[in-house]
Amino acid sequence: MHRFFAPAAGGRAQLSQAQLRQIRTVLRLGDGDEVAVFDGSGDEWVAELDGQGAQLKRSIPGTTEPRTALTLFQALIKPARFELVLQKGTELGIGRFVPFLSERCVTTGARAERWRTIVTEAAEQSGRRIVPTVAEVRSFSEVLVEASAGSPAIMPWEGEVGATVASVYRPAPKSSLIVGPEGGFTPEEVEQARAHGAVTVSLGRRILRSETAAIVAATLLLHSSGEL
Ligand code: SAH
Repeated sequence: MHRFFAPAAGGRAQLSQAQLRQIRTVLRLGDGDEVAVFDGSGDEWVAELDGQGAQLKRSIPGTTEPRTALTLFQALIKPARFELVLQKGTELGIGRFVPFLSERCVTTGARAERWRTIVTEAAEQSGRRIVPTVAEVRSFSEVLVEASAGSPAIMPWEGEVGATVASVYRPAPKSSLIVGPEGGFTPEEVEQARAHGAVTVSLGRRILRSETAAIVAATLLLHSSGEL
């Protein structure tokens, strides 16, 4: 069944004009056909199309949300690669993306609206019950304060030899990952992060591209949480 993210109120799903157009002209569905709707509150329903929107018919029990609220602090990287992280990270179960600028970042532009579209479509496709948020671009020092506040902060770093996600991560209600840009973190940034309580981990002896590192680290952490 096709899934849509839409506000639900008064027993109805308020599908947008763009969604209604897609439903009619691309999916070729009409009145009486059923779609699934989730509104980001954690609930999901089967809804019946009826012209201006859809009527909620019955709720679909259960959830697909991970037990850990996982935030990925991702350094800004080339737009297509950053967008890949948003899409794959949403499929895996990341709850919040926080873009940041660190010393070796070469890309600086934020594309808030496009990013929101990407996470929304990935959430619809992958069966998420929420749409992950994409925060405003932060500085590295803001990230350090935020990442370690009340949650284990794990920082993949290619200079780490001993620790791995599996060896340092213990499941927690909130978790953070901090992944660097194409050029990596400077030694000073690694020191600062450690001073704030972040724990560096290795993702193997090969150097991964930033977007690969983000996807792999999220996979390992969610696996350690029993989610994958
Ligand atoms: N400084 C490196 C590449 C950085 S890779 C260079 O230019 O040679 C980009 C980011 O991916 C890093 O900041 C780190 O967070 C992560 N990363 C890549 N490979 C990794 C590995 N083997 N172990 C841990 N983290 C890794």
